[in-house]
Amino acid sequence: MIPLFDMKRQYMKLRGEVLDAVDRVFSSGKVILGQNVKEFERELAEYIGVKCAVGVSNGTDALILSMMALNIGFEDLVITTPYTFIASASAASWVKALPAFVDVEKSTMNMNLELLERELNGEGNANPNRIKAVVAVHLFGRSLDLERLEKLQKKYGIPFVEDVAQAFGAEWNLSDGRTRKAGSVGRISVFSFFPTKNLGAYGDGGAVLTDDEDLCEKLRMLRAHGSKIKYDHEILGKNARLDEVHAAILRVKLKYIDEWNRRRMEIATMYGKLFESEKLTEFLEYPKTKGNLRSHVFHQYVVKFRKPEYREKVIDDFQRRKIGYAVYYPKPLHLQKVFENLGYREGDFPNAEELSKTTLALPIFPELRDDEVEEVVRVIKNSLKG
Ligand SMILES: *Cc1c(COP(=O)(O)O)cnc(C)c1O
Repeated sequence: MIPLFDMKRQYMKLRGEVLDAVDRVFSSGKVILGQNVKEFERELAEYIGVKCAVGVSNGTDALILSMMALNIGFEDLVITTPYTFIASASAASWVKALPAFVDVEKSTMNMNLELLERELNGEGNANPNRIKAVVAVHLFGRSLDLERLEKLQKKYGIPFVEDVAQAFGAEWNLSDGRTRKAGSVGRISVFSFFPTKNLGAYGDGGAVLTDDEDLCEKLRMLRAHGSKIKYDHEILGKNARLDEVHAAILRVKLKYIDEWNRRRMEIATMYGKLFESEKLTEFLEYPKTKGNLRSHVFHQYVVKFRKPEYREKVIDDFQRRKIGYAVYYPKPLHLQKVFENLGYREGDFPNAEELSKTTLALPIFPELRDDEVEEVVRVIKNSLKG
């Protein structure tokens, strides 16, 4: 048995530190918005390289609060891709705006920025005057081209919300030699600390980051009923706070994130080498990072089979051999019932549709062993060549 993801292996290593941190919070008697949330926000902002971080209840609320902070509302359009987790798009609906989709690239599985620009400059399908935000998702751990994102955001004057839920710690090399982290370019960036994410809590958690001090203050109000002073409500807000206990745990884990991401990259490199040496590339494509390895922190290791039948065959054998896997995402967002009202049809986003039929996520997490990676590839090989 090889799991897709295993929390327990990591917990066994961190147990002492995590239990100490939890004990300190419970003993202090301060469990909502205390010192740990404040310190975690400071450490997180510094790590990503922005001025302000606001700890919130989860990544979905982080997205909804971002929409609220940017005054997105009725009849506005928010652009994202149809090949991502629903929250990247549903946040727009929560503020009564409409998601509008742009297809992904087959190679990176991220938003096609050329198609995005066509929407922004009016050559696409959406009315450019109604586009009020872009949710740019760094899918599966792969950073979008941050330099291009920044240029587009500036050129069209539309705020970008980076959805960094899957890409904590991913970096992009700029042409002037500097590097920047995913989440440091958008007007706002959102993070999720759902337990399975690269930086995960033991429950729900999230954060919203920005360099804009006014937005930062507004986000702090929005997560706590729209008030700065208790029982003095200036704007409509939510209860969307990060718990003190999760902040304390995340502070412990933040110290290890670079080491964990390095191991994820090592596993990814190993998978790629084995696919080459076993000559499996006639059946599947694996994620490549073109010398900019740290641009992908492999939240998921997702391969693309050249035919849907290959995927079905491998899934059958994974089930038999008890190897963990997942299909992200089996139904693109434009074909979901909940978004029926948007009027999209099958065929509208061919790349997203093809990927939903041909991709498979393989086991990856920092504690996965080399021999397990070899076993996964052996099962794939026997399945496709046996
Ligand atoms: C996980 C995830 C979210 C939502 O985060 P939650 O904390 O689960 O609400 C949003 N966007 C993407 C791309 C995600 O993977």
